[in-house]
Amino acid sequence: MLIVLKPDATPAQAERVCEEIRRLGFQPHPMPGAGRTAIGITGNKGPVNALPFESLAGVDQCIPVTKGYKLVLREMKPEGTRFKIKGTEVGGGKNFTIIAGPCSVESTKQMETVAKFLKDLGVNILRGGAFKPRTSPYSFQGLESEGLAILKDIGDRFKIATITEVMDTGAVEDVSAAADVLQIGARNMQNFSLLKRVGKAKKPVFLKRGMSATLEEFLLAAEYVLHGGNNHAILCERGVRTFADHARNTLDLSIVPSVQKLSHLPIFVDPSHAIGKREYIEPMAKAALACGADGLMVEVTPDPDHALSDGAQTLNFKGFEKLIQALKPMAELLGRKIN
Ligand code: PEP
Ligand code: MN
Repeated sequence: MLIVLKPDATPAQAERVCEEIRRLGFQPHPMPGAGRTAIGITGNKGPVNALPFESLAGVDQCIPVTKGYKLVLREMKPEGTRFKIKGTEVGGGKNFTIIAGPCSVESTKQMETVAKFLKDLGVNILRGGAFKPRTSPYSFQGLESEGLAILKDIGDRFKIATITEVMDTGAVEDVSAAADVLQIGARNMQNFSLLKRVGKAKKPVFLKRGMSATLEEFLLAAEYVLHGGNNHAILCERGVRTFADHARNTLDLSIVPSVQKLSHLPIFVDPSHAIGKREYIEPMAKAALACGADGLMVEVTPDPDHALSDGAQTLNFKGFEKLIQALKPMAELLGRKIN
Protein backbone atom coordinates (compact mmCIF):
# COMPACT_ATOMS: atom_id res chain seq x y z
CA MET A 1 0.00 0.00 0.00
CA LEU A 2 1.03 3.60 -0.60
CA ILE A 3 -0.12 6.34 1.69
CA VAL A 4 -0.47 9.71 0.05
CA LEU A 5 -0.32 12.66 2.40
CA LYS A 6 -2.24 15.90 1.94
CA PRO A 7 -0.23 18.70 0.33
CA ASP A 8 -0.23 20.62 3.63
CA ALA A 9 0.62 17.63 5.86
CA THR A 10 3.28 18.52 8.43
CA PRO A 11 6.54 16.57 9.01
CA ALA A 12 5.13 15.53 12.41
CA GLN A 13 2.04 14.05 10.72
CA ALA A 14 4.29 12.18 8.25
CA GLU A 15 6.32 10.82 11.15
CA ARG A 16 3.14 9.71 12.91
CA VAL A 17 2.20 7.67 9.80
CA CYS A 18 5.70 6.15 9.70
CA GLU A 19 5.42 5.28 13.38
CA GLU A 20 2.15 3.44 12.77
CA ILE A 21 3.73 1.51 9.87
CA ARG A 22 6.63 0.47 12.13
CA ARG A 23 4.23 -0.45 14.93
CA LEU A 24 2.62 -2.98 12.56
CA GLY A 25 6.06 -4.49 11.94
CA PHE A 26 6.53 -3.00 8.45
CA GLN A 27 8.99 -0.47 7.00
CA PRO A 28 7.97 3.03 5.90
CA HIS A 29 9.59 4.60 2.80
CA PRO A 30 8.70 8.29 2.68
CA MET A 31 9.24 9.94 -0.69
CA PRO A 32 8.74 13.71 -0.65
CA GLY A 33 7.51 15.11 -3.95
CA ALA A 34 6.77 18.50 -5.49
CA GLY A 35 3.18 18.75 -4.24
CA ARG A 36 2.92 16.07 -1.59
CA THR A 37 4.70 13.23 0.15
CA ALA A 38 3.91 9.57 -0.45
CA ILE A 39 4.91 6.84 1.97
CA GLY A 40 5.45 3.33 0.66
CA ILE A 41 5.03 0.33 2.93
CA THR A 42 7.26 -2.72 2.58
CA GLY A 43 7.73 -5.82 4.69
CA ASN A 44 4.06 -6.82 4.62
CA LYS A 45 3.23 -10.34 3.46
CA GLY A 46 -0.40 -9.70 2.48
CA PRO A 47 -2.61 -6.66 1.93
CA VAL A 48 -2.28 -3.90 4.52
CA ASN A 49 -5.45 -2.71 6.23
CA ALA A 50 -6.02 0.93 5.26
CA LEU A 51 -8.32 1.70 8.20
CA PRO A 52 -5.73 2.66 10.85
CA PHE A 53 -4.13 5.06 8.38
CA GLU A 54 -7.21 6.69 6.92
CA SER A 55 -8.07 8.25 10.28
CA LEU A 56 -4.59 9.72 10.83
CA ALA A 57 -4.17 13.47 10.43
CA GLY A 58 -2.55 14.55 7.16
CA VAL A 59 -3.47 11.39 5.26
CA ASP A 60 -5.16 12.02 1.92
CA GLN A 61 -5.56 8.53 0.49
CA CYS A 62 -4.36 4.95 0.77
CA ILE A 63 -3.63 3.27 -2.55
CA PRO A 64 -3.51 -0.53 -2.59
CA VAL A 65 -0.58 -1.98 -4.55
CA THR A 66 -1.22 -5.10 -6.55
CA LYS A 67 2.15 -5.32 -8.32
CA GLY A 68 5.42 -6.70 -6.97
CA TYR A 69 7.06 -3.29 -7.17
CA LYS A 70 5.88 -0.41 -5.03
CA LEU A 71 8.53 2.25 -4.50
CA VAL A 72 9.20 2.73 -8.22
CA LEU A 73 5.50 3.24 -8.97
CA ARG A 74 4.56 6.55 -10.54
CA GLU A 75 1.94 7.07 -7.83
CA MET A 76 4.82 7.50 -5.37
CA LYS A 77 5.99 10.59 -7.28
CA PRO A 78 3.58 11.54 -10.08
CA GLU A 79 5.71 14.45 -11.30
CA GLY A 80 8.67 12.10 -11.93
CA THR A 81 11.96 11.73 -10.09
CA ARG A 82 14.34 14.58 -10.67
CA PHE A 83 17.75 15.10 -9.10
CA LYS A 84 21.10 16.68 -9.76
CA ILE A 85 24.32 14.93 -10.68
CA LYS A 86 27.15 17.35 -9.91
CA GLY A 87 24.88 20.29 -10.81
CA THR A 88 23.21 18.70 -13.84
CA GLU A 89 19.52 18.01 -13.40
CA VAL A 90 18.25 14.64 -14.60
CA GLY A 91 14.60 13.65 -15.10
CA GLY A 92 11.43 15.66 -14.62
CA GLY A 93 10.30 15.73 -18.25
CA LYS A 94 12.07 18.80 -19.59
CA ASN A 95 15.69 17.69 -19.34
CA PHE A 96 17.27 15.60 -22.07
CA THR A 97 20.56 14.68 -20.48
CA ILE A 98 23.52 13.42 -22.45
CA ILE A 99 26.01 11.00 -20.94
CA ALA A 100 28.96 10.40 -23.25
CA GLY A 101 32.48 9.09 -23.33
CA PRO A 102 34.53 6.09 -24.32
CA CYS A 103 33.51 2.51 -23.69
CA SER A 104 36.68 2.03 -21.63
CA VAL A 105 38.99 4.39 -19.82
CA GLU A 106 42.27 3.80 -21.69
CA SER A 107 44.61 6.58 -20.57
CA THR A 108 44.70 9.96 -18.86
CA LYS A 109 45.38 11.66 -22.18
CA GLN A 110 42.35 10.04 -23.81
CA MET A 111 40.07 11.05 -20.93
CA GLU A 112 41.44 14.62 -20.83
CA THR A 113 40.75 15.02 -24.54
CA VAL A 114 37.22 13.62 -24.23
CA ALA A 115 36.37 15.64 -21.09
CA LYS A 116 37.46 18.90 -22.69
CA PHE A 117 35.60 18.13 -25.91
CA LEU A 118 32.39 17.26 -24.06
CA LYS A 119 32.53 20.27 -21.74
CA ASP A 120 32.98 22.61 -24.71
CA LEU A 121 29.88 21.06 -26.28
CA GLY A 122 27.83 21.49 -23.08
CA VAL A 123 27.79 17.79 -22.18
CA ASN A 124 28.19 17.43 -18.42
CA ILE A 125 28.37 13.72 -17.66
CA LEU A 126 31.36 11.65 -18.76
CA ARG A 127 31.24 7.87 -19.01
CA GLY A 128 34.20 5.49 -19.07
CA GLY A 129 34.47 1.86 -18.01
CA ALA A 130 37.23 0.87 -15.60
CA PHE A 131 35.90 -2.62 -14.85
CA LYS A 132 34.66 -4.10 -18.11
CA PRO A 133 32.23 -7.04 -18.34
CA ARG A 134 33.62 -8.77 -21.45
CA THR A 135 32.16 -11.88 -23.05
CA SER A 136 35.64 -13.31 -23.60
CA PRO A 137 38.20 -13.56 -20.80
CA TYR A 138 40.86 -12.75 -23.41
CA SER A 139 39.34 -9.35 -24.28
CA PHE A 140 40.54 -6.15 -22.60
CA GLN A 141 39.13 -6.19 -19.07
CA GLY A 142 39.58 -2.49 -18.32
CA LEU A 143 42.27 -0.62 -16.39
CA GLU A 144 40.41 -1.47 -13.17
CA SER A 145 41.67 0.55 -10.17
CA GLU A 146 44.01 2.58 -12.37
CA GLY A 147 41.01 3.43 -14.56
CA LEU A 148 39.06 4.54 -11.49
CA ALA A 149 41.92 6.80 -10.43
CA ILE A 150 42.02 8.38 -13.90
CA LEU A 151 38.26 8.95 -13.84
CA LYS A 152 38.41 10.56 -10.40
CA ASP A 153 41.26 12.85 -11.44
CA ILE A 154 39.45 13.90 -14.64
CA GLY A 155 36.17 14.50 -12.80
CA ASP A 156 37.93 16.74 -10.28
CA ARG A 157 40.13 18.66 -12.70
CA PHE A 158 37.53 19.19 -15.44
CA LYS A 159 34.60 19.62 -13.03
CA ILE A 160 32.63 17.09 -15.03
CA ALA A 161 30.37 14.42 -13.55
CA THR A 162 31.49 10.83 -14.09
CA ILE A 163 29.78 7.45 -14.39
CA THR A 164 31.39 4.04 -14.44
CA GLU A 165 30.29 0.44 -14.04
CA VAL A 166 30.53 -1.43 -10.77
CA MET A 167 30.52 -5.18 -11.32
CA ASP A 168 30.58 -6.60 -7.81
CA THR A 169 29.66 -5.74 -4.24
CA GLY A 170 33.28 -5.56 -3.10
CA ALA A 171 34.01 -2.69 -5.50
CA VAL A 172 31.06 -0.46 -4.58
CA GLU A 173 33.00 1.53 -2.00
CA ASP A 174 35.93 2.29 -4.32
CA VAL A 175 33.71 3.09 -7.30
CA SER A 176 31.53 5.35 -5.12
CA ALA A 177 34.64 7.23 -4.02
CA ALA A 178 35.83 7.69 -7.61
CA ALA A 179 32.69 8.41 -9.64
CA ASP A 180 29.46 10.40 -9.33
CA VAL A 181 27.15 7.67 -10.67
CA LEU A 182 27.30 3.87 -10.27
CA GLN A 183 26.42 1.97 -13.42
CA ILE A 184 24.95 -1.50 -13.16
CA GLY A 185 25.53 -3.23 -16.48
CA ALA A 186 22.99 -5.26 -18.44
CA ARG A 187 24.66 -8.50 -17.39
CA ASN A 188 24.22 -7.60 -13.73
CA MET A 189 20.67 -6.27 -13.83
CA GLN A 190 19.56 -9.25 -11.78
CA ASN A 191 22.62 -9.54 -9.56
CA PHE A 192 20.51 -9.13 -6.46
CA SER A 193 23.32 -8.84 -3.93
CA LEU A 194 24.84 -6.06 -6.05
CA LEU A 195 21.45 -4.31 -6.32
CA LYS A 196 21.04 -4.50 -2.54
CA ARG A 197 24.53 -3.10 -2.03
CA VAL A 198 24.09 -0.12 -4.37
CA GLY A 199 20.75 0.49 -2.68
CA LYS A 200 22.84 1.40 0.37
CA ALA A 201 25.30 3.54 -1.59
CA LYS A 202 25.28 7.31 -1.44
CA LYS A 203 25.61 7.76 -5.20
CA PRO A 204 22.92 7.61 -7.92
CA VAL A 205 22.53 4.29 -9.73
CA PHE A 206 22.29 3.95 -13.53
CA LEU A 207 20.61 0.60 -14.10
CA LYS A 208 20.85 -0.91 -17.56
CA ARG A 209 18.15 -3.27 -18.77
CA GLY A 210 19.19 -6.91 -18.91
CA MET A 211 19.39 -8.23 -22.45
CA SER A 212 16.32 -10.39 -22.00
CA ALA A 213 14.58 -8.58 -19.16
CA THR A 214 10.87 -7.91 -19.23
CA LEU A 215 9.49 -4.57 -18.11
CA GLU A 216 8.45 -6.15 -14.82
CA GLU A 217 11.90 -7.63 -14.17
CA PHE A 218 13.49 -4.28 -15.03
CA LEU A 219 11.25 -2.41 -12.59
CA LEU A 220 11.74 -5.05 -9.89
CA ALA A 221 15.52 -4.66 -10.25
CA ALA A 222 15.10 -0.92 -9.68
CA GLU A 223 12.81 -1.68 -6.74
CA TYR A 224 15.78 -3.38 -5.03
CA VAL A 225 17.76 -0.15 -5.27
CA LEU A 226 14.96 2.01 -3.86
CA HIS A 227 14.14 -0.56 -1.20
CA GLY A 228 17.73 -0.25 0.01
CA GLY A 229 17.08 3.46 0.59
CA ASN A 230 18.60 4.90 -2.59
CA ASN A 231 15.90 6.85 -4.43
CA HIS A 232 18.27 8.17 -7.08
CA ALA A 233 17.96 5.51 -9.75
CA ILE A 234 17.95 5.97 -13.52
CA LEU A 235 16.87 3.22 -15.90
CA CYS A 236 18.51 2.66 -19.29
CA GLU A 237 17.32 0.74 -22.33
CA ARG A 238 20.36 -0.67 -24.17
CA GLY A 239 18.84 -3.15 -26.57
CA VAL A 240 17.53 -6.65 -26.07
CA ARG A 241 18.27 -9.99 -27.73
CA THR A 242 15.93 -10.95 -30.55
CA PHE A 243 16.10 -13.03 -33.73
CA ALA A 244 17.20 -9.92 -35.65
CA ASP A 245 20.86 -10.10 -36.60
CA HIS A 246 21.37 -6.89 -38.56
CA ALA A 247 22.31 -5.08 -35.36
CA ARG A 248 24.07 -6.06 -32.12
CA ASN A 249 20.75 -5.97 -30.23
CA THR A 250 17.23 -4.71 -30.88
CA LEU A 251 16.54 -1.25 -29.48
CA ASP A 252 13.21 -1.58 -27.72
CA LEU A 253 12.01 2.00 -27.59
CA SER A 254 8.53 0.91 -26.53
CA ILE A 255 10.00 0.44 -23.07
CA VAL A 256 10.30 4.24 -22.73
CA PRO A 257 6.59 5.15 -22.57
CA SER A 258 5.91 1.84 -20.78
CA VAL A 259 8.33 2.74 -17.98
CA GLN A 260 7.03 6.29 -17.87
CA LYS A 261 3.46 5.10 -17.48
CA LEU A 262 4.26 2.82 -14.55
CA SER A 263 7.22 4.46 -12.86
CA HIS A 264 8.52 7.83 -11.74
CA LEU A 265 12.13 6.91 -12.53
CA PRO A 266 13.94 8.57 -15.45
CA ILE A 267 14.53 6.31 -18.45
CA PHE A 268 17.54 6.78 -20.73
CA VAL A 269 18.45 5.14 -24.03
CA ASP A 270 21.87 3.82 -25.03
CA PRO A 271 21.85 3.52 -28.84
CA SER A 272 25.54 2.53 -28.93
CA HIS A 273 25.19 -0.81 -27.16
CA ALA A 274 21.75 -1.38 -28.68
CA ILE A 275 22.86 -1.21 -32.28
CA GLY A 276 26.58 -1.85 -32.22
CA LYS A 277 27.18 0.22 -35.37
CA ARG A 278 28.13 3.87 -35.17
CA GLU A 279 26.30 4.90 -38.35
CA TYR A 280 22.93 4.13 -36.78
CA ILE A 281 23.48 6.00 -33.53
CA GLU A 282 22.13 9.31 -34.80
CA PRO A 283 18.78 8.05 -36.15
CA MET A 284 18.17 5.98 -33.02
CA ALA A 285 19.19 8.84 -30.72
CA LYS A 286 16.68 11.07 -32.53
CA ALA A 287 14.03 8.39 -32.07
CA ALA A 288 14.84 8.22 -28.35
CA LEU A 289 14.34 11.97 -28.01
CA ALA A 290 11.15 11.82 -30.08
CA CYS A 291 9.58 9.10 -27.93
CA GLY A 292 10.22 11.00 -24.72
CA ALA A 293 13.33 9.40 -23.19
CA ASP A 294 14.97 11.39 -20.40
CA GLY A 295 18.41 11.20 -21.92
CA LEU A 296 21.06 9.30 -23.82
CA MET A 297 24.21 7.37 -23.15
CA VAL A 298 26.51 7.47 -26.18
CA GLU A 299 30.03 6.15 -26.70
CA VAL A 300 32.53 8.65 -28.10
CA THR A 301 36.34 8.66 -28.24
CA PRO A 302 38.95 10.46 -30.39
CA ASP A 303 40.05 7.37 -32.34
CA PRO A 304 37.28 4.74 -32.27
CA ASP A 305 38.97 2.49 -34.82
CA HIS A 306 41.74 1.83 -32.31
CA ALA A 307 39.56 1.69 -29.17
CA LEU A 308 40.27 -1.23 -26.83
CA SER A 309 36.54 -2.06 -26.65
CA ASP A 310 33.38 -1.35 -28.66
CA GLY A 311 35.10 0.74 -31.34
CA ALA A 312 32.58 -0.20 -34.04
CA GLN A 313 29.76 1.45 -32.11
CA THR A 314 31.73 4.47 -30.92
CA LEU A 315 31.48 7.90 -32.55
CA ASN A 316 34.49 10.10 -33.20
CA PHE A 317 34.34 13.78 -32.23
CA LYS A 318 33.04 14.88 -35.62
CA GLY A 319 30.23 12.32 -35.53
CA PHE A 320 29.31 13.21 -31.97
CA GLU A 321 29.22 16.93 -32.68
CA LYS A 322 26.98 16.26 -35.67
CA LEU A 323 24.69 14.23 -33.41
CA ILE A 324 24.36 17.05 -30.86
CA GLN A 325 23.73 19.62 -33.61
CA ALA A 326 20.98 17.38 -35.03
CA LEU A 327 19.34 16.87 -31.63
CA LYS A 328 19.30 20.53 -30.63
CA PRO A 329 16.55 21.84 -32.97
CA MET A 330 14.52 18.70 -32.34
CA ALA A 331 14.74 19.20 -28.58
CA GLU A 332 13.70 22.83 -28.93
CA LEU A 333 10.69 21.87 -31.02
CA LEU A 334 9.66 19.33 -28.38
CA GLY A 335 10.11 21.77 -25.51
CA ARG A 336 13.04 19.81 -24.12
CA LYS A 337 16.38 21.08 -22.91
CA ILE A 338 19.61 19.27 -23.76
CA ASN A 339 21.90 19.32 -20.75
C1 PEP B 1 28.73 -0.29 -20.94
O1 PEP B 1 27.92 0.64 -20.93
O2 PEP B 1 29.94 -0.12 -20.83
C2 PEP B 1 28.21 -1.68 -21.06
C3 PEP B 1 29.02 -2.71 -20.88
O3 PEP B 1 26.93 -1.73 -21.38
P1 PEP B 1 25.87 -2.93 -21.20
O4 PEP B 1 25.94 -3.33 -19.76
O5 PEP B 1 24.59 -2.27 -21.58
O6 PEP B 1 26.29 -4.01 -22.15
MN1 MN C 1 30.81 -0.35 -24.49
